[in-house]
This record gives sequence, structure tokens and C-alpha cells, in this order.
Amino acid sequence: VSRPATPPTHVATLELLEGPPPAIDAGAEVRLVVRAACVHGCDLGAAPLVIEGDDADTVGRPTCRAEHAGICDAQIVLRAPAALGSASWTVRLAGHEPAGFPHECAPLRVETDVVPHRTSIAVWQVPSPLKGSAFSVRVGVECSARCRLGGHAARVLTDSGEWLGEGILAGDALPESDGLYEAEVSLVAPDQAGVFFRRVRFDGRGLGLPHEPAEATFSFRSLEPPECTVTVRVVPDGSTDRLDGIEVRLGPYRTETDERGVARIEVSKGRHELTAWRIDLDPASIPIDVTGDTELTLAAAPRRRIDADEGREWM
Ligand SMILES: [Zn+2]
Ligand SMILES: [Zn+2]
Repeated sequence: VSRPATPPTHVATLELLEGPPPAIDAGAEVRLVVRAACVHGCDLGAAPLVIEGDDADTVGRPTCRAEHAGICDAQIVLRAPAALGSASWTVRLAGHEPAGFPHECAPLRVETDVVPHRTSIAVWQVPSPLKGSAFSVRVGVECSARCRLGGHAARVLTDSGEWLGEGILAGDALPESDGLYEAEVSLVAPDQAGVFFRRVRFDGRGLGLPHEPAEATFSFRSLEPPECTVTVRVVPDGSTDRLDGIEVRLGPYRTETDERGVARIEVSKGRHELTAWRIDLDPASIPIDVTGDTELTLAAAPRRRIDADEGREWM
């Protein structure tokens, strides 16, 4: 007695050629390359792959590589979930009888760990305000996944975490930056002169995807209000015929000479170090005791060797 012929079942395999990294940013795209193959050399290109699991948002279809009979490599792009922790997807071969034969195929499981985005923060344009006066600093924040951060707040805190001010990041990233968003934060200097430290914090609260907070520290010097004017004439001996653009510092106060080599600095009374410097001059320095309006002359010698990089570092 003959029975109706049942086609034999083929065994197909799914192999992960390219998987996700062990940890990926929340909401980021994940690229997989899956190889489907039948030992009998069936063309599995017509058999779609089905993806199940966390936010299985797939882009792309299996595409058969013609040069390998019976092998079909598919590129699949998934989106990682927003929720942190482990994420997994299952890839199955769909369609029971590709190439006219039933295929048995074990599903492929793909796992990764979803992590929050890293953020980084920087502070610049920190002035030396007079004690008790208003000043501002500029804060920049960046996300590792280049999220749009505009409209979110960066806060300035004391050492102990007390809120002092905040700035709202601009709607658009700085031009030619890699997603750096900038804010201006208005602050008030303490009522004493001295050096103070502040914390700047971005916690990413209110962003759609989870972010690790970022924190930076900056310091600034608050100054006594100036009481006297010191007029400094810098006299470079030797070759130089340019007298302007010489940086003159008197303690924490600074300015530059005019074309006559003269700088006027408003300072508080007390003992200060007077320094004159330009890239082509050796730094000249003397201590002075300021008790009232003063005029003085400072000699400066040409520099023996000019090093532009070193010049930029000199503070
Ligand atoms: Zn087959
Ligand atoms: Zn982000």
C-alpha cells in the first residue's frame, strides 16, 4: 500500500554574523547581519525573517547573496528600547515551505544591554567679577548619542549643592560642533574677595531617553573694587619698535598697553605683583605696594627665543 508522498523536512539554520555590541545607548539603532542557510542549498531569499521582541522596529529584508547557493544574508536594523537593562530579540525564519520543502529552523536569540546616554559638560568665559557683582559664564553640554538638548537646563550649584542659577541650552547646537548646546548662566559673586568654586550640573531630566548626569567644576576670583589707578609705562629696550599689545597684570587685574606703551589699571590698595609680557618679550615682574594713584616705568627685554605654543600656555 503506497501512502501519499510527504516532502522531506529540511533543516535550516540562522547564524548571527554581526551582532549588537554588549552595551548600546537607549533608543539607538542596532545593526544585525543574519545568515539563513539550508544544507540542501535551497534559495531562502524569498523567506522573510520575522523579528520579535523589544521595540522590534525593523528596517530591511533578507537579501540573498547570489555567489553562495543556499545562503542568504540579511541585514536587519533594530531600534533599542528606551528602558534600561537587558534587551533581547528573536529572529525566526518565516514561510514554511520556501523552495517547495518544509524547513525546520531554530530561532536565533540576540541580546544586549541598554545603557543611558553619557553627557559631558564644559564651562568657559569665566570672568573675575568684583565682589558682590553680577557676572555670567557660558556652559556647553553634549550627549554621546547627539540628542537634541536645546531647551533643557544646566544648573550652577555651590560646593554643598545649593542652587545658585541656571541657564537654558539654546535650541540649536553650536555651528560646526558635534551636538554641543550652549547656555549662559547669570550669577552673583560672593560679598568677599577671593577664589570660589562652583559646580555645574546637567541631569538630563525631561529628555525622552535616559541620560547619565554630567558635572563639571569651575573656579573664579572675585575682586575688591578698585580704589586707585596705576599707570604703567613699559619700556622694551633693544630691537622692538611696537609698544602696544603688551599684557600688563597687577595682581588679579589685567590690561594691555596702548601704542605709546602705557597701560592704566584700576586696582585695590595693597601689595600686588606687577607683570608685563608679550610673546616677543621676556616677562618682567616687580612687586609694588599700592597706596594711591601711582605712575611707574617697567623695563622689558626682547625674548631670546619665541615659542608660540608656550606663549599660549602662559597664564
Ligand atoms: Zn532546503
Ligand atoms: Zn542622548
